[in-house]
Amino acid sequence: MPNRTAVHSELYSPDSADNPSLNGGRCRSCGYVFFPPQRYGCESCGAPPEKLEAVQLGGRGTLHSYATVHLHMGRDIEAPFTIGLIVLDDGPAISSTLANRTDEGLAIGDRMKSVLVTASTDQAGNEMVELRFAKAEGSK
Ligand SMILES: [Zn+2]
Repeated sequence: MPNRTAVHSELYSPDSADNPSLNGGRCRSCGYVFFPPQRYGCESCGAPPEKLEAVQLGGRGTLHSYATVHLHMGRDIEAPFTIGLIVLDDGPAISSTLANRTDEGLAIGDRMKSVLVTASTDQAGNEMVELRFAKAEGSK
């Protein structure tokens, strides 16, 4: 079993390939839940950073919008790929690359879930995993 390493380890654990939870934050003053985690203070009520605490957010939500990128000059990802805005059941919205490269079969309102995909393997055989969102079973 190769080691798995999260490309963005501050955002999710590499250990649960299927439907990982996300590392978010919550304000103890007003209850505002946010993602990604930050240490600047509450965006909602202005409470100082010491009022913020880490929370695990479930990796499930609803597809709010999406767009397929057909031409991309960067080398980090190969076009086409599709970016979705997913409103998590726990509140925050997350903009994420989707597991499907194109928007075929997608519809606004689809149920989505987090998945980890192997983005690359380093020379030592360690898998580098990245977060994606995929259509959840049971969607129409
Ligand atoms: Zn707050």
